Amino acid sequence: MSVRPFLITGCARTRGSPGGGAPTSSSSGTWCARASASSSSRVGLRPPDSSRDSVLTEMPVVSESSARVAPRRWRIERSRGPTASRAGSWSIVLLLLRQKDLSNRRGRSDGQHMNENYDVVVVGGGAAGLSGAVALARSRRSVLVVDAGDSRNAPAGHVHNFLSRDGTPPSELYAAGRAEVTGYGGRVETARVAALARDGERFGVQISAQTGERTVAARRLLVATGLRDVLPDVPGLAARWGIDVLHCPYCHGWEVRGQRIGILSTGPAAVHQALLFAQLSPHVTLLQHTGPALDADQHKQLGALGVAIAEGEVERIEAGTDGLTGVVLAGRGRLALDAVVVAPRMEARAELLEPLGLKPAEVLIGEHPVGTRIEADRTGATAVPGVWVAGNLADPQAQVVGAAAAGLMAGAAINFDLILDEARSRG
Ligand SMILES: Cc1cc2nc3c(=O)[nH]c(=O)nc-3n(C[C@H](O)[C@H](O)[C@H](O)COP(=O)(O)OP(=O)(O)OC[C@H]3O[C@@H](n4cnc5c(N)ncnc54)[C@H](O)[C@@H]3O)c2cc1C
Repeated sequence: MSVRPFLITGCARTRGSPGGGAPTSSSSGTWCARASASSSSRVGLRPPDSSRDSVLTEMPVVSESSARVAPRRWRIERSRGPTASRAGSWSIVLLLLRQKDLSNRRGRSDGQHMNENYDVVVVGGGAAGLSGAVALARSRRSVLVVDAGDSRNAPAGHVHNFLSRDGTPPSELYAAGRAEVTGYGGRVETARVAALARDGERFGVQISAQTGERTVAARRLLVATGLRDVLPDVPGLAARWGIDVLHCPYCHGWEVRGQRIGILSTGPAAVHQALLFAQLSPHVTLLQHTGPALDADQHKQLGALGVAIAEGEVERIEAGTDGLTGVVLAGRGRLALDAVVVAPRMEARAELLEPLGLKPAEVLIGEHPVGTRIEADRTGATAVPGVWVAGNLADPQAQVVGAAAAGLMAGAAINFDLILDEARSRG
């Protein structure tokens, strides 16, 4: 079996969708044009009999509650019943009642009043969420970013491969992003979104903060909650994650160049990683651990690039005050190392989306499952109208700069979707 490019160079696809899983726009032109075309065809230019329009037209014309609040003059008119001469004013009354009923419904979520209404609530304030929020705030949209503050790369000391920001600590990058959002009038809150629910034409967003719980309303959602790295269960491994237990040659490879690097094999990605790290150091060892047996081609490729192979399971990772010192191989003793590379399972942080009808799809490299993602088109629009996703939640392979780009694209698409909505409702 020959080795195909892995991770950043990317050959991942979603199970059941050979072309990459998500529908892509075939229109040409600038990215803005593509974003808007895709957006309008999905949501903005829906035919009049779409389910969303029927929410408006199928509302009870005179509901019990609206009849109770109708002014006395209207009640008198109704008791007389419409006559030919009164038909015009009668229909205006019905329209007013219907609008009142609609606005009442918009303000409620599960019996709770929602006093805060936003054009967009962004769930997750990493590179993707903050970038989307900047685009929206600069478009004069009311936007709230709710962020729990545990971004994926938080354990790492610095961000690399982000042009012009190389070496910036993640916390500094996100603090700068938050300041940009608030500088354009957006709001950023450190809190956790506990639940999302559709509420008629809007969404109810339940926020759990130190100050208590509340529910706010949003016309659109941008969900950028990232992914969870699930590490192999080896004692000592998790404690060194992001420091000298690494996963990505482009994030940290330069920092361990020339050092003794062990590749912990738990699946087919290990050979890809070994070949990539061999570009950075002549001292790379593939630790067979629980990984699949190597075929003849793989042996040849690894041998050609000088990668050693160590048989046996890794019992534990050892570290001292200066960092990782090596691994203990079952029955074979200790191997001195400066860094260990793993391939965690990358699970979409998508629990919030399930009640809205969005379930994560499996991501495959070759035939092997490596994680999950929420499927979306290239603007981040999901199968659920009004809900966009960006960053690692939609694309586990996205780096910081890629996540930021996806957030911008989603922000632009949401803004245009809202514009179409407004043009339709005012037209
Ligand atoms: C150890 C490590 C080091 C890395 N180093 C680099 C590097 O040097 N360069 C690089 O380009 N990439 C690097 N990456 C990859 C990088 O972390 C991702 O590309 C990037 O974080 C993706 O951004 P995101 O916005 O999609 O997700 P995240 O950055 O993970 O942001 C998601 C945010 O959503 C929030 N959130 C989740 N659930 C909720 C909720 N219910 N309510 C509110 N908020 C919520 C989280 O708190 C988090 O702040 C690294 C990854 C790891 C694991």
